[in-house]
Amino acid sequence: GLFGQSGWKPVWRDPDPKSEYDVIIIGGGGHGLATAYYLAKEHGITNVAVLEKGYLGGGNVGRNTTIVRANYFLPGNSEFYSHSLKLWEGMESDLNYNVMHSQRGLINLFHSDGQRDAFARRGNAMINQGDDAILLDRDGVRQYLPYLDFENVRFPIYGGLLHPRGGTARHDAVAWGYARGADQRGVDLIQNCEVTGIDIEGGVVRGVQTTRGAIRAKKVGIVVAGRSGQVAAMAGMRLPIESHVLQAFVTEGLKPCIDHVVSFGMGHFYISQSDKGGLVFGGDIDFYSSYAARGNLPMKEHVMDAAMTLMPMIGKAKVLRSWGGIMDMTPDGSPIIDKTPTEGLFIDCGWCYGGFKAVPGSGFSFAHLMATGNHHEPASRFRLDRFRTGTGLMDEEGTGSQHN
Ligand code: FAD
Repeated sequence: GLFGQSGWKPVWRDPDPKSEYDVIIIGGGGHGLATAYYLAKEHGITNVAVLEKGYLGGGNVGRNTTIVRANYFLPGNSEFYSHSLKLWEGMESDLNYNVMHSQRGLINLFHSDGQRDAFARRGNAMINQGDDAILLDRDGVRQYLPYLDFENVRFPIYGGLLHPRGGTARHDAVAWGYARGADQRGVDLIQNCEVTGIDIEGGVVRGVQTTRGAIRAKKVGIVVAGRSGQVAAMAGMRLPIESHVLQAFVTEGLKPCIDHVVSFGMGHFYISQSDKGGLVFGGDIDFYSSYAARGNLPMKEHVMDAAMTLMPMIGKAKVLRSWGGIMDMTPDGSPIIDKTPTEGLFIDCGWCYGGFKAVPGSGFSFAHLMATGNHHEPASRFRLDRFRTGTGLMDEEGTGSQHN
């Protein structure tokens, strides 16, 4: 409007739901939209609806702190996030959409000999996976991040693990880019359409009940992040998932001062600077189960404490706002992309606080599973029954500096 662009039009249609689809995706977040996009693009399946109870991108995909990385350690996670990062690197030309993917480098700080050893191992695992990692000593970190408190005696900075291809992206643009790409290929994106029931006959999924009527489908995918437990319960499933709120914060816009993504190894704190200049930062989840997308004061204090410990200069910045999102936490911190006991019903969830970076990889792998019935190799360990059998658990929870 400011520049006289009054003729702008919506970039995707607003269709009414049809009575039947080949595939229904429940949830119009990053993972749901990416799944629909890859179903159409990779598998030619276009009779697809994405049903979103609110508006596209109103969930965690538009609430996260936008960190994108491939620095996982365990087999299973390592190859999956590596594949996802490669998709990120081709995303803008694939979608023909500027998602402002910025590979500015991510530095995980360490503060003891033991942590250094652990990060050296992680760095080697990343390199073995074909990704990049550089172990920095204290002086190496000082060159990149001179504003940190190097005199702190309680949590001395010993060094950091630099992941040069890590960085950030504009979260809303990712949702919009996938939405536009899916719509252009014929996918119906249906907003303000809450799924209230899943129709199952003789162990086979038949469709869903929604606030806009019943819709039949041959296949249904549940991709609802923090609401996974509730939606799976509609199909009689009890998931190994707890929903917790995760908060984040942004300051007023400042001149460029933080060039990388930085995470503190001794407290729950990580930070980057947005292109608008705001310092975007966060910490740990609030430690109670909740479906409220807003957090509580003790965690705010905890995050601010850690920020002041690591970079006292931040005390001069004014916090502009804070918000929360509902995280689908699994017991081992790793996700689920799998079939369910109901034929034709699939689930993609359990991304904990790290699912933004997974958007392309998850969408690609989930589309593969729904289209072919076979697990996509990089995501083949994300099985639901590992929580029943105890075999194949991937205990790589985003603890401490591994957050987000
Ligand atoms: P969502 O966007 O939440 O999509 C799920 C959708 O399902 C929602 O739009 C919801 O309305 C819809 N839905 C729910 N129930 C129904 C229903 N019954 N019918 C229809 N629709 C329904 N990850 C990173 O990798 N890096 C980060 O830096 C990072 N930082 C984070 C910071 C915060 C504060 C938060 C909250 C999360 C962060 N994450 C991060 C995690 C990441 O955002 C999530 O793991 C990921 O976005 C979840 O997948 P999604 O995008 O599909 O979820």
